[in-house]
Amino acid sequence: MHFVIIDLEWNNTYGRKTKSFINEIIEIGAIMLDEKLAEVSRFSCFIKSQIGKKLRGSVKELTHITKEDLDGGMPFTKALSELRRWIGGRENTVVTWGDGDIRVMIENYRYLNGLEVIPFLTNYADLQGYFQRVMKTSPARQVGLSAAAEMLGINVEGYSLHRAVDDCELTAECFRRLYDKKLFFEHIKKCDHDFYGRLSFKPYIISNINSTLVDKTKLSYICESCGEPAERISEWKFSSRFFKALFYCPNCNERIKVGVCFKKLYDSVEIKKTSVIVVDRPEEDSGAAEVI
Ligand SMILES: [Zn+2]
Repeated sequence: MHFVIIDLEWNNTYGRKTKSFINEIIEIGAIMLDEKLAEVSRFSCFIKSQIGKKLRGSVKELTHITKEDLDGGMPFTKALSELRRWIGGRENTVVTWGDGDIRVMIENYRYLNGLEVIPFLTNYADLQGYFQRVMKTSPARQVGLSAAAEMLGINVEGYSLHRAVDDCELTAECFRRLYDKKLFFEHIKKCDHDFYGRLSFKPYIISNINSTLVDKTKLSYICESCGEPAERISEWKFSSRFFKALFYCPNCNERIKVGVCFKKLYDSVEIKKTSVIVVDRPEEDSGAAEVI
C-alpha cells in the first residue's frame, strides 16, 4: 500500500453554471510515500482557472500564488489526468489533512467534468480525524495542520509553507509521527457510493417539530432537582436552532425553560438539550405559558 498525500489551494469564486459560489482548485500538490512512509516522488502543478476570473486578495496573500502562475498552469481536467498517471496503478490510499480538500476535489470534478466519481480515488483517510483520535482532542474543534505539527514537536519554521506541496511535506511528517499501522488501517475508508454520499451531505437543523426525524421521547423533561417528570406548560416554539418550551415541576414548584436541538447528520440525528430554571415564582406570573 502506497500513501498519496494531497494538498490543494483554492479560490472561492462564483460559478455561473450552478449559480452559487464554488471553491475552484488553483494548485495541486502531492507526495507519494511507500509503506515505510519514505517519499517515493512528488507532484505539483498550477491550474489555469476556468470558473473564476479574479484571484481573491486573501488567497494571494495566503498562498503567494499570482495570476501569472495560474495563466501558466494546466486546465483542471488535464491536471487531474496527469495526477492520475503519476499515481499509477499501484494500490494506494489518498491522505489529506481534514476532508475539505477531498470535498473540493469532488465538487470541481462534478462542475468541470460532470462526473460524480474521481477515478483514482479508491481508498481515503482523513489524517486530521486520525490525529484527533490518536491525540484524543475534542472532536468539536478541528486542529489546523501547523497547530498539529507543533503539538507533535515538529519545528514548523523549518518548512516553507507557500506551495501546496510544502503543506504535503508537513502533513507527511505529522503522518510519520502518528502512524500506527493497525490503527491507521482501521481509519481508511473505501471510496464507495456511501463515501460520496456522506461527503456531499450537508448537515442541517430540523425546524419542523412534526418531522419524523424528531424523536418525540426527547421532548420531555425530567426535573433535575427531584428526578420526577415535569409538565410542559407552553407550546413548543422554534427559534435559533432550538425547539423551546416551558416546563413546570409540581414537586419543586419550579419552572424550567427547556431547549432541544435536532441536527440531521448523514446517518443519524444529533440531539442537544438545554435547561434553565426560571427564577421568578410562578404565582407572580399568571401568563407563564407565553413567556419563553
Ligand atoms: Zn422537581
